[in-house]
Amino acid sequence: MRSISQFRQAFLCGDVSSEEVTAAVLSRLSEREPQVGSFITATPELAHSQAMAADEQLRVLKDSGQPVPPLLGVPLALKDNLCTAGVRTTCGSRTLAQFVPPYESTVTLALRQQGAVVVGKTNLDEFAMGGSTEHSAFHPTRNPWNLARVPGGSSGGSAAAVAAEQCLGALGSDTGGSIRQPASFCGVVGLKPTYGLVSRFGLVAFASSLDQVGPLGHSVQDVALLLTAIAGHDPKDATSLRLAVPDYAQPLGAVEESRPLAGKRIGVIRETMGEGVAASVRGVVEQAIAHFETLGAAVVDISCPRFAYGVPTYYIIAPSEASANLARYDGVKYGLRQPDAKTLLEMYESTREEGFGAEVKRRIMVGTYVLSAGYYDAFYLKAQKVRTLIKEDFVKAFTQVDVLVTPTAPTTAFPLGSKSDPLSMYLLDLMTIPVNLAGLPAISVPCGYDPDGLPIGLQLIAPSLGEARLLHVAHAYEQTTTWHQRRSPLWQS
Ligand code: GLN
Repeated sequence: MRSISQFRQAFLCGDVSSEEVTAAVLSRLSEREPQVGSFITATPELAHSQAMAADEQLRVLKDSGQPVPPLLGVPLALKDNLCTAGVRTTCGSRTLAQFVPPYESTVTLALRQQGAVVVGKTNLDEFAMGGSTEHSAFHPTRNPWNLARVPGGSSGGSAAAVAAEQCLGALGSDTGGSIRQPASFCGVVGLKPTYGLVSRFGLVAFASSLDQVGPLGHSVQDVALLLTAIAGHDPKDATSLRLAVPDYAQPLGAVEESRPLAGKRIGVIRETMGEGVAASVRGVVEQAIAHFETLGAAVVDISCPRFAYGVPTYYIIAPSEASANLARYDGVKYGLRQPDAKTLLEMYESTREEGFGAEVKRRIMVGTYVLSAGYYDAFYLKAQKVRTLIKEDFVKAFTQVDVLVTPTAPTTAFPLGSKSDPLSMYLLDLMTIPVNLAGLPAISVPCGYDPDGLPIGLQLIAPSLGEARLLHVAHAYEQTTTWHQRRSPLWQS
């Protein structure tokens, strides 16, 4: 049993207990962990006790005829930049290697309150800066489809844990593509919600105007269940939207009509199907687009001319915000402190020198530079203006279509250690970054495999707060294809 929806069915009719499924997941977790390395901290004792409590709660709820929360007893994994009270939260950094938060993030609290089971905290690029999960201070994570390849990043641990069936679903965070790109590389579904739909309280901040927490799972329906559990207004996050959240999973039943997308208009962003996109990726995405036509949708060619400026714009705005957010790691209140320093300044310097890895330092330096007097107007202010233009491209596109599609990433998973210059890593987020800059929701669903058997993801983008529409279209695609049913050949006996 590998999906949340499958578990739920069997759990409700008493065929399996959470304890049984959690034990099976934990044993796969430890068996596969030496190969994949999805986790920074596994929490088997916590998981075991939560599973027992979930089984007990099911008995009580059934006896009293009350509804059973959708995630009761479900073993999940959490990206290690989500604060968990009493469980170490490292952010993949030496700076926070010993940090045990005294409080719980809003999203993980919501999962706990629903009775979900936490099997561990997953690996990530340090402070979520990266696209391969090679830049964790602890160890790299490997792709469950091919252990010589990266799982993508920065939520590579969460995506790999889902693909390796070390959990039934997971949470990640996405600032420029960190949920969708690893989902694409690992052959799972990953969703980045509309900015403000999900609380950022207790998510360790990277770039606050872009960061969003979101789910990863084996199906669109699983991701919809997780999204429903974590979405909603939170007074502890000033950017949280004040609105009622629907049940995103409920409308996603069996797809019975032959043309489930009749009347829908799907826009293909022309600029994402050309230069820089691997031929195998383009071929598979073209097939997916043709499939939408067989489902009754009208396919429309769309141009977003400013799309190409997404990466340079992001690499000004995100480092600027990161340089401000990471100023707090100064060794004073919490996190690493270099003990041998003689003066306060020396303590700051040596703590930060020792605590941060090369990529994080690069971002802090770039961010500090572009915000400094004299450069602010030339870089930061200009980037903000381009951000508005990118948003306008989307607004215009959505006057013509319901949903946009692109490849999620220009390539499939690459070999570990093969991208040594930062720019080639940055370019991986070509298709995902504009979505964060515009604050829109987007999902990556498996849409095929390259000749080496590596998964390829299709990105669907909807207008602001169009999650229900996004999930409907993604679900219709998924349920009429078989890509999401494939499993990694590694553990098939
Ligand atoms: N890969 C991008 C970066 O390095 C995006 C990271 C993210 O979404 N957290 O910044």
